[in-house]
Amino acid sequence: MRHKLVVGNWKMYGSLEKNWALLSALVEGLRDCRNANFAVCVPHPYLYQAQTLLRGSNIAWGGQNMNQHEAGAFTGSVAPHMLEDFGCSYVIIGHSERRGPCQETDPIIAAKYVAAINNGMKPILCLGEKLEEHEAGLTHEVVARQLDAIIHQEGAHSLAKAVLAYEPVWAIGTGRAASPHKAQAVHAFIRNRVAGHDRGVAAKLRILYGGSVRVANAAQLLSMPDIDGALVGNASLVAEQFIAICRVANSL
Ligand code: PEP
Repeated sequence: MRHKLVVGNWKMYGSLEKNWALLSALVEGLRDCRNANFAVCVPHPYLYQAQTLLRGSNIAWGGQNMNQHEAGAFTGSVAPHMLEDFGCSYVIIGHSERRGPCQETDPIIAAKYVAAINNGMKPILCLGEKLEEHEAGLTHEVVARQLDAIIHQEGAHSLAKAVLAYEPVWAIGTGRAASPHKAQAVHAFIRNRVAGHDRGVAAKLRILYGGSVRVANAAQLLSMPDIDGALVGNASLVAEQFIAICRVANSL
């Protein structure tokens, strides 16, 4: 039995004041939800605030990115152990907003993935195809390449310490989510590919769906047998919406 997991990705939004209101509302609104897991991935400067407000609640927190090195002359970067210092349980790795504009390659993402695990955090590894790849029917090929980059370097057993997120790039921030059946088909493909290496790990692996998850589509998406939760961008910034999505997960 895989517990559903809903993770908010705040991206580069927030302020001390807004975060205080949002986090306080989440703690209150999810207090009685014990059947699913919840987390928010916040901008680095707000980790201390998240840690302070969420400690002792049923909501975990994490980072949205990090450097793969432990220390060094990497101006502007944040090391894995720094996230660990602030109690992060999760870190998003390989989000399309980093693969694309920030030119993070599969090897860089694999290095960050292993650094997260070595520092006691669960990487939330994002996989997903761009619109032109989707239209060319290359979804499975792209997702397989991104997944294999990790499996070949770290082994499928490492996925026991990770979470995957299938995030079709064309669905992120567009209001155009993948249909539940199409998303399910990709999730099943991912799980089968992992099962080809390690059936036990595949059975327990949580594969989240991300891309325009809203209150209106959450129940249908999260009811699919291989969709184990959601990675939520825009809707995670509005307390009532994120709480409602989390409560859907909790009810399934
Ligand atoms: C995301 O940022 O990972 C995401 C899925 O965003 P949105 O929910 O806004 O599409």
